[in-house]
Amino acid sequence: MSFAADSVNPMGQSYARILCCMCSIEIMQNPANMCVACLRSSVDITEGINRQLTIHSCRGCGRFLCPPWQSVALESKELLAACLRKIPGLNKVKLVDAVWIWTEPHSMRLKIKLTIQKEVINGAVLQQAAVIDFTVRNQQCKNCEASYAQGVWHAVVQVRQRVSHKRTFFFLEQMLLKHSAHSDCINIVTFKDGMDFYFKERQPAVRFIDFLSGHVPTKSKYARKLVSADHSANIGDFKHNYIVEIVPVCKDDLVILPAPLARNLSDISPLTLIKTIGAGVHVVDFLTGERQEISVEKYWRHEFIPVMTSRQLIPFVVLSVEPLLQAQRVSAKQRASRKVSVKCVCDFVSFFPTYLSTNTHKQQPKLTRKTHTHSHSTPLLFFFFCHSDSHGRMRRRP
Ligand SMILES: [Zn+2]
Ligand SMILES: [Zn+2]
Repeated sequence: MSFAADSVNPMGQSYARILCCMCSIEIMQNPANMCVACLRSSVDITEGINRQLTIHSCRGCGRFLCPPWQSVALESKELLAACLRKIPGLNKVKLVDAVWIWTEPHSMRLKIKLTIQKEVINGAVLQQAAVIDFTVRNQQCKNCEASYAQGVWHAVVQVRQRVSHKRTFFFLEQMLLKHSAHSDCINIVTFKDGMDFYFKERQPAVRFIDFLSGHVPTKSKYARKLVSADHSANIGDFKHNYIVEIVPVCKDDLVILPAPLARNLSDISPLTLIKTIGAGVHVVDFLTGERQEISVEKYWRHEFIPVMTSRQLIPFVVLSVEPLLQAQRVSAKQRASRKVSVKCVCDFVSFFPTYLSTNTHKQQPKLTRKTHTHSHSTPLLFFFFCHSDSHGRMRRRP
C-alpha cells in the first residue's frame, strides 16, 4: 500500500490519499482501505436477508395475515410494517428506508425496496438497497371458515326497527362502522325491518347488545334452543337468540306524548318534536323551547309512535328575525322570544307570495345576549309540519 499526497477536508483535518488495496485506484483513506466498488464486491450486507417471501391473504374478506388477520389496504403503512416483520435477518442490519414498488393489484405480488446499512471491515459502514418480493397466497381466515361451515354460529342478534324510514338505524350503522363493533360477527344478513348479526360464541353477542343499548334506545328479548345434549356429562349445546327492538321513532318526527308521560316530564306540552335519539329519546316543545329526555324505561312504559315523520317536512326560508321584549312563558332556564318571518321555498317561484309570521323561543346564551338568526331549526320544523296536510299537499295561510 502506498500513500498519495495529503488532502485537507473542510473541517481542517488532513487525510492521506491512498491506493485501493484491490484495484490500486487513488482514494481517500478509509478504515477498509478499499474503494467503494471493491468493498461492495467483497462484502454483501444483504446476505442473510431472504428476498423471496410469502404473505397470506383471505379471498373472502380481503384481509391479510399480519398476524392476526387485519384489513389493511395495499401499499399502506400498516401492510408495510407487517411485511417488514416477516423479513428474517432484518434485525442484524440498520434499516434506513423502506418504500413500496408499485405492482399490478392482480399480480399477487408485493415489492418493497429496502435501504439498509451495516458495519463492515474495520468499522466502515456500507449502505445498500435491496428489493424484497412477496408472493400473496390465498388462505381462508377463521371467520370466513366459520361463516361457510354449516351450523357453526351459537348466538344471533336480530336488530329490528319497524318504521317507514330508518334514520335511527342508519345512525346505528355509522356507529357500528366507526367503533368496529361488528368485528366479532361471522355473518350479517339484511332484512326489510333490520339485520341479523351472527356470532360464534354467546359472549361477543352480549357485548354487541350492550353496545347497541348504549347508543340507541332498545329493548331485548332472549330465547335459546337446545341443539344437542350429552346427558351423561350433563352438557348441552345451545343456540342463543336475542331480539333487539329499536324504538320506532326517529329524529325530527312529530309525536303526541301520552298524558301521563307528559305530566311526568315536568308537564311538557304533549305535542313535541323528537330532537335527537341517543341512549334516550330527547324531545323539544316547539312553543316554549323546553327540552326533556325520555328514558328507555319510560318510553316502553308509555309507548308512542310518530304522528308525522321527517319525510313530510317542507323547506321554509327565514326572511327576518326580530327579538320580542316579553317572553310568553319563562321556565327555569331563561328564554327569549323571537318573531320570525318565514316563506315557503315554493313561493319563491309563484306569482303571489305568502308570508308567515310567528314567535319563536330560543334559549339565550349565558355570556352574550346577541340575537342569533341561524338557530331556529326547532320552531321552523313546526311550520314544516303545519303546512303539509296528511296527503302531503300544501296549504297556504292567507
Ligand atoms: Zn478498489
Ligand atoms: Zn376471511
